[in-house]
Amino acid sequence: MDGSHEDDEGGGFLRVTHPDATTNSDHHWMHQALALAERAQREDNEIPVGALVVDADGELIGEGWNRNIADHDPSAHAEIVAMRRAGHSLGNHRLVGCTLYVTLEPCAMCAMAAVHARIARVVFGAFDPKTGAAGSVFDLLSDARHNHRVEVVGGVLGDQAGAMLTAYFRAKRGKVAG
Ligand SMILES: [Zn+2]
Repeated sequence: MDGSHEDDEGGGFLRVTHPDATTNSDHHWMHQALALAERAQREDNEIPVGALVVDADGELIGEGWNRNIADHDPSAHAEIVAMRRAGHSLGNHRLVGCTLYVTLEPCAMCAMAAVHARIARVVFGAFDPKTGAAGSVFDLLSDARHNHRVEVVGGVLGDQAGAMLTAYFRAKRGKVAG
C-alpha cells in the first residue's frame, strides 16, 4: 500500500473473484477486518487497512492494522502485523491451514510473506489496481513456480473497504489543498 489510491475512485473495487468460494464466515471475518481498518484511521491516522488470521479450527489467532507511520516501520502492513501475531500465538512461523483476511488486496511484500508462512487461503476486500499482488498487477499467491500456492478469494465486502480508502485519501487531499 503506497498511497496511490488517489485516482482510483470508481475503478476496480467491485469485482469479486471466485464468488462461489466465499462463505458466511468470510463475511463475518471481513466485517471484523473492516472494523480494524477503521481503527487504523481513527486511532493512528494510518491508511485504513485491517487484517486478521483465523486458524483451521476457525479461531482468531492474530489481528492488526497498518502501523507504518506509528512504528516507523516500512514493513508494518496490516497483513504483516496480523501474521506476526498469529505466529507468536501458534509458536510457529508456519501458519499452516490458516486463512488471512485483509480489507485490501495484498501487495507483493505481504503476498510473499503469506507464501512463506504457508497460509492456506487469502480473502481480501478491495482490489488494488496499482500494487495488488493477488492478481491485479502481480499474481504471486497462485504463481505455479512456488512450492506453496494459496487459495485466493477477492472482492469480499470490497465496496466497503474501497469506500473507506477513498474517503481517507479524499480527506488527506482536502487537507493538503487547504
Ligand atoms: Zn502489503
